[in-house]
Amino acid sequence: MPKVTIDLAKCTGEGTCVDVCPVNVFELQEIKGKKKSVAKNEKDCIGCRSCEVQCPEKAIKIED
Ligand code: SF4
Repeated sequence: MPKVTIDLAKCTGEGTCVDVCPVNVFELQEIKGKKKSVAKNEKDCIGCRSCEVQCPEKAIKIED
């Protein structure tokens, strides 16, 4: 199962990952007053790397 790591220091919560993930791994949540992406359904990840490639902040790492 791929491991999804989000660098919350880089994440701006603009939601590209939410839009591009084909299996709805991500959800935006309010963390310390700021919107951040959370890999809520990490177990569903199929390792397509769309999120990693398309995140404008390069905040996501996918490891097999
Ligand atoms: S690698 Fe693909 S399936 Fe996994 S979280 Fe990113 S967009 Fe979703």
